[in-house]
Amino acid sequence: MNTKKPMSLTGRIIFGMIAGILTGFAVRFLFGDEGFVHTYIVNGLFEVGGKIFIASLQMLVVPLVFVSLVCGTSSLKDLSTLGRMGGKTLAFYIVTTAVAITLALTMGTLFQPGAGADLTAAASFQSAEAPSLGQVIINMFPTNPINAMAEGKTLQIIVFAILFGIAISTAGKSGERIASLFVDLNAVIMKLVALLMHIAPFGVFFLMAKLFTGLGLGAIWSLAGYFAVLAGTLLLHGLVTYSVLLKGFTGLSPVTFLKKMEDAIMFAFSTASSNATMPVTMETAKNRLGVDNKVASFTIPLGATVNMDGTAIMQGVATAFIAQAFGIDLTMGDYLAVILTATLASIGTAGVPGVGLIMLAMVLNQVGLPLEGIALIMGVDRLLDMIRTAVNITGDSAVTMIVAKSEGALDESVFNDPKAGEKEEEVHLEKVNA
Ligand code: ASP
Repeated sequence: MNTKKPMSLTGRIIFGMIAGILTGFAVRFLFGDEGFVHTYIVNGLFEVGGKIFIASLQMLVVPLVFVSLVCGTSSLKDLSTLGRMGGKTLAFYIVTTAVAITLALTMGTLFQPGAGADLTAAASFQSAEAPSLGQVIINMFPTNPINAMAEGKTLQIIVFAILFGIAISTAGKSGERIASLFVDLNAVIMKLVALLMHIAPFGVFFLMAKLFTGLGLGAIWSLAGYFAVLAGTLLLHGLVTYSVLLKGFTGLSPVTFLKKMEDAIMFAFSTASSNATMPVTMETAKNRLGVDNKVASFTIPLGATVNMDGTAIMQGVATAFIAQAFGIDLTMGDYLAVILTATLASIGTAGVPGVGLIMLAMVLNQVGLPLEGIALIMGVDRLLDMIRTAVNITGDSAVTMIVAKSEGALDESVFNDPKAGEKEEEVHLEKVNA
């Protein structure tokens, strides 16, 4: 008799991740970086598998944000809730980001990772133009909602979905009919998320195998100080700051919170994209943490777009590192300017891989540091991007918990149930033929 319990989804994702990392190292060690295996397995199978996985996650983002937010807004009894919730969410997002960057600058100044760094390797770096704050705000309003969806502009979709939801809730009988349609659509889309989570162990395997076949670990050696200070600060913020906030504002256990975030954290780590991880963050918030859809459908997409504490931390440590490496002293005024600009830069950073580094140019420009500094740290950015993305989405979820608790929209019995969400995650494909 077979009494073995099947491995949990989380267990399978961890397994996929570790197997992928080991496979990547093994392929690199055994076959180098060219030849048949490289062409057909690494750049063939691994790359195709990984890209399909990310594409299928991204495929869900637009329908998920739109449908769940319309559902959430149309279920609000009173519209003032929306303003209050929005205000609280934004305030927490901005404050946590400012705390993150202050922590980063403190760590960067304390540990001096850039003192004595070798600058000869620096190549040139072309920065992209950062949009002005005014433009960012104007860009939130879509002229054409279909176009906003086609181009995946999350903030524009959020604005349209809120207005649409408000219209539904005030449109009487017609509104009620449309609202019930959206409730059903939402349930179907969440099932789609569950379905995709089941292929995650394979997707994560391909992503890790491809990445670790080509990862330049030599670069990490030469920038070990920067890497260690940045990774340490990210962990400190991810584990301590959020735990203190969560405990302080909700009284709930940070250990349970982090445990329940496991899957979302692994998705963020392997995709390095808050945006692609959004379906899983949302699923976690609703089904595992017990947050009501009316809060999660608003705070999670907003957070994945504007709240990037991990990115802000990278920008803080990188600024301190580059200043030290080029022997430039920063004044107190410069530090304040960095805090302000990095907070804005992280708001303007899209939740996709590597963008944080491009936005760093905006911060360096602000305090007159050479942009070539970015070339210095570029070689180690991918791995750090993975860690900071995990911090980014943990921050979104921690604030979501706090806002939900204060709005009476948190089901603590779900939060405290270690098995919560398992039923929603089940997918029985055999039923398709039944
Ligand atoms: N990859 C990050 C994210 O998606 C953004 C960044 O820092 O580059 O959250």
